[in-house]
Amino acid sequence: MRGRFYLPALGLLFLILIVPAGCRPAVVAPAIAPTAAADVTTTRPPVVSTGRPPSPTPATPSPQPSPTGPGSATPMAIPTAGPTATPTPRPSPTPNRDILCSERLADDGLLTVVTLTYGLSRDFEPRGLVPLSGYLPGDVTLGYPNELRHVAVGPLVRMITDMQAAGLHPFVISGYRSYSAQAIARQKWAEAEPERVNILSAPPGFSEHQLGTVVDFGSPELPEVVGQEDIEFHTYFYKTSEGFWLADNAHKYGFTLSYPFEAQETTGFFWEPWHYRYVGVEMATFLHEQGISLTEHQLATEPPPCIPDTP
Ligand SMILES: [Zn+2]
Repeated sequence: MRGRFYLPALGLLFLILIVPAGCRPAVVAPAIAPTAAADVTTTRPPVVSTGRPPSPTPATPSPQPSPTGPGSATPMAIPTAGPTATPTPRPSPTPNRDILCSERLADDGLLTVVTLTYGLSRDFEPRGLVPLSGYLPGDVTLGYPNELRHVAVGPLVRMITDMQAAGLHPFVISGYRSYSAQAIARQKWAEAEPERVNILSAPPGFSEHQLGTVVDFGSPELPEVVGQEDIEFHTYFYKTSEGFWLADNAHKYGFTLSYPFEAQETTGFFWEPWHYRYVGVEMATFLHEQGISLTEHQLATEPPPCIPDTP
């Protein structure tokens, strides 16, 4: 009897000593990014993202000149002294259970829930869109003709200015994406990779980019980190200097990570460490401190703002 007791007891002692020290699961990023439906990938897994149409081969972004030309614009005279207070975000869209989520029109607030079941009408276009080329230099916009709601531009410029002052080189690869632009991207992906279209591209009306307050960031370190030339999006963005900085500081400027690693079940989207949404400093700081996404917060605290439907 004694021997029977000692053996399990020794085993238990072993576990007590060893488990906390060496077997705690490390926070390991998945090697691949199987689902990134909010965006569109530029090529095969583990690559993810952008709403741009796929091309046969991964390509370097072809700068699309804006009216003023890439690089010709300089940041506007927006105060660059660190994060500043932003207006308190409005609580949430008025609940309306009489409409399908795919027929919603977002208001001018910053907290509209958009997921794979909470969509936006094809008629919804945010107000106050401005071209980023008027506010950021070409080495940040890469010449892409992206737009963003004006309310998010000042904080974005301040954040990027501070990143550059810290020796970083962030890119802004994607911003506002209209319903029709998302539809075109989705269609091209459906033709190129029909079996993976649902994890590569959100259906039109179900991308946060339609809100005009979302930015996809890039890093010049990414190709080396991933080991693939010309790559724009990859979950390894979190390993880049820009990714680290954003994860630690974006909330101070009012930006929040929409699709954290832990929130896939709630958001419906795989981890997108490059996809930040402007929600105002107060809300972004709250979410950062709580360690949750806006979607988690909104769906937990607000009644359904519409009738969820399946895209
Ligand atoms: Zn995105």
